[in-house]
Amino acid sequence: MGVLTTEPLGRVLDYRAPEGGCDPGDYVVVPLGPRRVMGVVWGPGEGGFDAAKLRGIERVLDAAPMREEMRLFLARAADYTLTPLPAMLRLASRAPGLGEPPAVRRVYRASGHEPARLTEPRQRVLDALAAYGGAPVTLAELSAEAGVTSSVVKGLVKAGAIVEEEAPRDLPYPPLDPGAAPVRLEGDQVAAAEALVAAVAADSYSTTLLKGVTGSGKTEVYLEAVAECLRRGRQALVLLPEIALTSEFLARVEARFGARPAEWHSGVTATERRRLWRMVSEGQAQFVAGARSALFLPFRDLGLVVVDEEHDTSYKQEEGALYNARDMAVLRASICGCPAVLASATPSLESWVNAAQGRYARLDLGARFGAAELPEMHAIDLRPEKLPANRWISEALARSVEARIARGEQSLLFLNRRGYAPVTICRACGHQIGCDHCDARMVEHRFQKRLVCHQCGATKPMPEACPSCGVEGRMAPVGPGVERLAEEVADRFPQARVAVLSSDLFGSARALKEQIAAIAEGGADIIIGTQIVAKGHNFPLLTLVGVIDADLGLQGSDLRAAERTFQLVRQVAGRAGRSAGRRGVALVQTCQPEHPVIRAILGGDEEAFWRAEAEERRVAGMPPYGRLAGIILSSPDVAQVFETGAELARADAPLRRIGAQVFGPAPAPIARVRGRHRVRLLVKAGKGAPLQAALAEWIAQVKLPAALRLAVDIDPQSFL
Ligand code: ADP
Ligand code: ZN
Repeated sequence: MGVLTTEPLGRVLDYRAPEGGCDPGDYVVVPLGPRRVMGVVWGPGEGGFDAAKLRGIERVLDAAPMREEMRLFLARAADYTLTPLPAMLRLASRAPGLGEPPAVRRVYRASGHEPARLTEPRQRVLDALAAYGGAPVTLAELSAEAGVTSSVVKGLVKAGAIVEEEAPRDLPYPPLDPGAAPVRLEGDQVAAAEALVAAVAADSYSTTLLKGVTGSGKTEVYLEAVAECLRRGRQALVLLPEIALTSEFLARVEARFGARPAEWHSGVTATERRRLWRMVSEGQAQFVAGARSALFLPFRDLGLVVVDEEHDTSYKQEEGALYNARDMAVLRASICGCPAVLASATPSLESWVNAAQGRYARLDLGARFGAAELPEMHAIDLRPEKLPANRWISEALARSVEARIARGEQSLLFLNRRGYAPVTICRACGHQIGCDHCDARMVEHRFQKRLVCHQCGATKPMPEACPSCGVEGRMAPVGPGVERLAEEVADRFPQARVAVLSSDLFGSARALKEQIAAIAEGGADIIIGTQIVAKGHNFPLLTLVGVIDADLGLQGSDLRAAERTFQLVRQVAGRAGRSAGRRGVALVQTCQPEHPVIRAILGGDEEAFWRAEAEERRVAGMPPYGRLAGIILSSPDVAQVFETGAELARADAPLRRIGAQVFGPAPAPIARVRGRHRVRLLVKAGKGAPLQAALAEWIAQVKLPAALRLAVDIDPQSFL
């Protein structure tokens, strides 16, 4: 039999079938050198070996075999992204304890009785249990979460505050009832939901772009499609950007279908992940809400895939296997023969063009639901303001914030920059502090009391004296990050309660989500946030959004700079005035109010913006009208990367044969990361060209030195 393992070998290996036989798709354990590794029976062996020398498959694991459609999906995804198949298999078998037989385990939950003696560590354990919302957890998870030794937990069991019990390891998920609490749709929602329900009922592949402003009811509409999928007894998958997977979404599903969907993301415990993986494969989880890696779950009967906020950049996996979950969702749907729904207020240009050219169906939701209106948008021209060097809030914005505080409403100040200040400069010699391992400037994080490299994560303390000229006490921050903006806000609005939302300020995704929930309930007057606030949260009291620097995203040379700025600012502005009776206002600070992107953001003629953007890309032969692939070479040896890069550039015959061009080698925009020098080549091809095959042939010609790494990024999103 041919067995594919997760080891980086690049090919399927031949093994003798075990006693009792095995079938394609079976999860098996095979010997590999001195080790035992997991694999999947991929098909018949290649043969041609001495049968006597062939090693045997040791055993077949007690897990549902990988379905043929999953094997096909992994193979196609590997071909498309030029990722080795074993790396794809790793994505699809990330289930802890996959081969273990179903068993019982010991779990812990609160009894509801206070212990007689309540120490601080004991309190932490009880808090941790409360945070799990009554769900039973294992000893290892509980002590890790509470940061205590297992004896503290055991002590609480003795004291009667915690119950210890045996439970089957993996329970099915509670069933969802599609008719539990139907919602009455209105206006455009009715026809859109009908179209999606029909797509599910058609039992065949289709992709639909569902476009509607934030608050127009996209979620309600695609949940109708989920309901139809449930009625047909098939499984539904909704992908969300990780941070949007909040209790708000889960609670909404629960209100509607009587039970929560199964959750899959990095914050889910290993126990829960194993359970979900198994239940999904047995059809005992009907509805999964997950981050991008949920695409690789072994659904038994997938009937619908929804990608919410489909434009979101976090769908692009930027490390390891470089794939875009949105595109892979469409691929998976096409293989399963089920509909894919891409929902967004500001679709990616790719999806917009696919819809315009008829490859995707398109549904539009016009207005906001009910009486909630879209925010008014105004530019604030910063040029005549003459703000002092350490101030970023204009007079007009400050007055609007004050008015909100007086009315008990919330304001959001958006600045897409983590930390305190992006640059630290020596006032004596002009030296700027950089990272020792990367060509990037260190960002001051006052909250952590350190300088941090946003490229590699390296940190160091803020020096007293300039590392270059040695003068003491002259190091100064330049420019704002959210932490510094918070200082200005505290200074200007001393009476206001301020919350800063930035991914690095929270120890865990859960802590961040709790903070978001607290804000939604009115726990802050002013919210200062990075792009994490742009994603799908509902803050009912929020009526003002101030964009501190709308020009920030427009400075780079990135192909998608305009698109990104447009999406981000419109998304953030969409946070304002989501509830009826409170009209929102968005004030956009800019030094270039006449810039076409800023005008498009304010003017609201979105279709005109997409048309202009699409036309520019078409003329330039850029995606989605042409195809790009990025090749990143990296090595500790700078001469080596450039030599190999030049060699690749010279050997471009396989690319020329398909009419593709290669640019570079050039230093990557960040030329050194973690001590490795990086150069980039960019390959540009026509829309229909067989790019992957040509790339594979091209790269195979050049022998790569051992220390050199080569990564291929098909359809690159960022050009770092
Ligand atoms: P979107 O996903 O487009 O941002 P939502 O589906 O979250 O929009 O809808 C915005 C708000 O309006 C939510 O609180 C939602 O429950 C509510 N809503 C939308 N449509 C309806 C409806 N037909 N009936 C009741 N509430 C609705
Ligand atoms: Zn660094």
